[in-house]
Amino acid sequence: MVMNVNAPRGTIDIFGEDIKYRNFIIDTARELFSVFNYQEIVTPTFEYTEVFTRSIGEGTDIVQKEMYTFEDKKGRSLTLRPEGTASVVRAFVENKMFQEHLPVKLFYIGSMFRYERPQKGRMREFSQLGVESIGTNNPMMDVEVIWLLNSLFKELGFVDLVLLINSIGCSNCRESFVEDFKAFILPHLEKLCPDCRKRYTQNPLRIFDCKNRHCRKVLEGSPRVLSYLCTDCREHFEKVLGYLDVLKIKYRIDHSLVRGFDYYTQTIFEIVSYQIESAQNALGGGGRYNNLVEQFGGPSLPAVGFAVGIDRTLMLLKKLCIEVNLNENRPRIYLIVLDEEYSSYCLEILQYLREHSYTCDTNYNAKKLGTELKWAEKGGYDFSIIVGEDEVKTHNITVKDMKTRNQYRIDWSTGKKEILTLLSRDTSPSRR
Ligand code: AMP
Repeated sequence: MVMNVNAPRGTIDIFGEDIKYRNFIIDTARELFSVFNYQEIVTPTFEYTEVFTRSIGEGTDIVQKEMYTFEDKKGRSLTLRPEGTASVVRAFVENKMFQEHLPVKLFYIGSMFRYERPQKGRMREFSQLGVESIGTNNPMMDVEVIWLLNSLFKELGFVDLVLLINSIGCSNCRESFVEDFKAFILPHLEKLCPDCRKRYTQNPLRIFDCKNRHCRKVLEGSPRVLSYLCTDCREHFEKVLGYLDVLKIKYRIDHSLVRGFDYYTQTIFEIVSYQIESAQNALGGGGRYNNLVEQFGGPSLPAVGFAVGIDRTLMLLKKLCIEVNLNENRPRIYLIVLDEEYSSYCLEILQYLREHSYTCDTNYNAKKLGTELKWAEKGGYDFSIIVGEDEVKTHNITVKDMKTRNQYRIDWSTGKKEILTLLSRDTSPSRR
C-alpha cells in the first residue's frame, strides 16, 4: 500500500539552498559566540513541564495554549521545550555552574516547539539560537548581549533592522505600573478583543502585544512603564543606553515592548524588520531575568540573554536577496566514469581526493560524457575528471578545467600528486 503522509502541520523540511542559508546563519553565529567568549550548551529537547510553567509564567500564551505537553509511560508530565532560557537555567542550577567563575556565558542552538496557528514565519517546530549570560547585573552585560545580537545581523548582511529597547523594571516598579495600567484599561475593557479581556485579569502586560486595531487604539493613551522605574532600575537603564551610545549601536525606545515571558526584569529588547509585512517581524529578542536562577532553586544571580529565530532570519535573508558568502573557494570536482567496469579505478581516485579533503562526487547513474559534462557545468563543479577506456588502459586521468575548458592528462601511477598542484592553481572565488 502506498503511504500518503505529509509533514505535520506547522513543520517544514529544510533542504537544498535553504540548508546553505541555515548553515551560513549558524556558522556566523558560532564564530561570533566564540569571539564574545560564549560556550555551547546542549540541553534536552523535552523537560518536566514545570520547568516551563513556573518560569515562563502560568498566565502567558505559551503556557496557556502553546505547549506540547504529554505524559510518559510512568505518568510524568513532560513538555517539548517552547524556548531555551528555562532549560539553560535549569541546567545551570542542576549542574552547579554557579560555582564556576561568574558570569557563565552560554549559547545554544536547537529546535523549539509551540502549538501556534501556523503562518509565514510562524511554525510549530522552529529553530532558535541564543545566549544566556548568568551571574552579573552589570549593565555592560546587557549591552554585550545586545551588541552580540546586533553584530550577528550585521555580519549576516542586514542593513535595515531596528533594535527596540525598553525596561520593565523590577517586580516593585512593575507592581505599581500594573496597578495604574489596569485602572487605565478598566473603562475601555469592553472595547478590547476577547483575548485581551482575559489578559486583563491573567497577565495585563500582554495587552501591549496585541495586534488588534481596537486594542492598539485603547493603548494609545496608556501610562508608560518607564515612568514607573525605581531609582536603581532607571539608573541601570540609563547606563545601558549610554553604553549602547559608546558602541554607536542605534536603538529605538519602544514603550509598548513587553515580551511574552513572565521572567523578564529591567532591560528587554527585540530586533525587528519592517521589510517583513506581517505581525511576525521580530527576528530575535531577549532581556534581563534577575529572579529566574533563584526560582529554580539556585543562588540569587542576575542574568540576561537573547534568542534568534533561525527560520525567520533565513526567510528574510532570501527575501532581501542578501548574498551569502559560503567560503566555498576550494575547488569541487566531478569524476566522470564512462563504464561501470572502471568502478575500482574510480574508487581509488575518489579516495585520494577525499583524503585530501576535496569535495568530489562521481556519476553513479548516467554514463554519457556529454550529459555528464553538462551536469558538471550546471552543478557548479570547477573540475571534471574523465575516466574512459583509454585512461584506464594507460592508468591516466583526464582533468578538465570547467572554467577555462583546458584539459590536462595526468599519469595516475607515477604523478598523482600533480592533480593537487593543478587543483590548487585555481584560486579564484567559486562561481556558485
Ligand atoms: P521568543 O522566544 O518568542 O522571544 O522568540 C525569539 C525569536 O524566535 C522570534 O523573534 C522569532 O524569530 C522566533 N520565533 C518565535 N516563535 C516562532 C515560531 N512559532 N515560528 C518561527 N519562529 C519563531
